Amino acid sequence: MRQPGRHFVQIPGPTNVPDAVLRATARPTMDHRSAEFGEFGKKILERIKTVFKCAGPVFIYPASGTGAWQAAMVNTLSPGDKVLMYETGQFSNLWKAMADSIGVVPELITGDWRTGVDLKVMEERLAKDKGHEIKAVCIVHNETATGCRSSVPGMRKVLDGLKHPALLMVDAVSALGSMDYRHDEWGVDVGVSGSQKGMMLPPGLSFTAVSAKALEAAKTAKLGKGFWSWDDQIPLNAQGFFPYTPAVNLLYGLDVALDLLDAEGLDNVFARHERHAEATRRAVRAWGLEIQCRKEEDYSSSVTTVRMPEGHSGDAFRRVVAEKFNMSLGSGLAQLADKVFRIGHIGDLNDLMLAGALSGVEMGLTVGGVPHKEGGVQAALDYLKVQNN
Ligand SMILES: *Cc1c(COP(=O)(O)O)cnc(C)c1O
Repeated sequence: MRQPGRHFVQIPGPTNVPDAVLRATARPTMDHRSAEFGEFGKKILERIKTVFKCAGPVFIYPASGTGAWQAAMVNTLSPGDKVLMYETGQFSNLWKAMADSIGVVPELITGDWRTGVDLKVMEERLAKDKGHEIKAVCIVHNETATGCRSSVPGMRKVLDGLKHPALLMVDAVSALGSMDYRHDEWGVDVGVSGSQKGMMLPPGLSFTAVSAKALEAAKTAKLGKGFWSWDDQIPLNAQGFFPYTPAVNLLYGLDVALDLLDAEGLDNVFARHERHAEATRRAVRAWGLEIQCRKEEDYSSSVTTVRMPEGHSGDAFRRVVAEKFNMSLGSGLAQLADKVFRIGHIGDLNDLMLAGALSGVEMGLTVGGVPHKEGGVQAALDYLKVQNN
């Protein structure tokens, strides 16, 4: 049956694409070797640095975020290199699996999927690495599976405190453009992101922001770089070109998405995401449901993962919401499958859209027979009202 009105995409990526961005991608495509494209390419490659807050290069791939994970590793590491990772959830584990598959040796510190990176445990492990065998520390800034954030500046401090030379690699796929990220100030060596989350674009672009130290490491790294080679990008990017056909129309969209982030101001964008996250958590608590992230200081601004009451299926609940209210909620991933649902509040979202999304959750809980208390939407509205006063 036709579902009238706009579909609510309340998953933590892909997110709502603003109409202005969609229209930009619909422009006729362009000769990617033309002088006109070179000028456009140069502009885009400069502008993208403003969201990463970096002076060094950001390489743009026609790929999803997974590609940028691979790019980060193959450009800087050699076969057999040890890397230290922390299990925040499904995304840390997928990155670890990729590391295994390309010939580096990851060590994943076990976590319980309910917090960000435990810096103490990382410090203890790195302190034991007297010979500096660990070549990189890789962490997920915002774990999209659990709604837990990790402290990137905290991780930097641990490395500096120990004078450990490992590269710091950060997955900021679901953080960039929605949560504070400061590539240079935080001393990140490779920052990884993608287009379809806080950047408000369709899926299909990914990014690596690269420090001088990572560029230096790239000179001696021996993994096969293939498609992902920064060496191939550098000379062409200098002229605004790419070593292969770039995703021209997505780059048009990126230009407009950067206009929108500029017009709102990044600090306002981050504050809006924090406000929406807090409103969402107030709703969840009023429903009497449990938030997956169990440390307040680790709460994500872009996604809230909600635990289902014992004996109730998250997937069945999400089906009810999709069929009755034309809204997609995020599923539980891997060990959280069916045990949780995720509310994405990331990207191009305003208070009324969030209120609509939370209304859909509250009605879905009733229609789906999930035990809960009334009043979640009201709790969120009460908070948003005061915030706007
Ligand atoms: C979405 C996401 C990715 C990348 O996923 P793709 O589907 O390849 O774009 C990586 N890490 C995190 C934390 C994510 O949220």
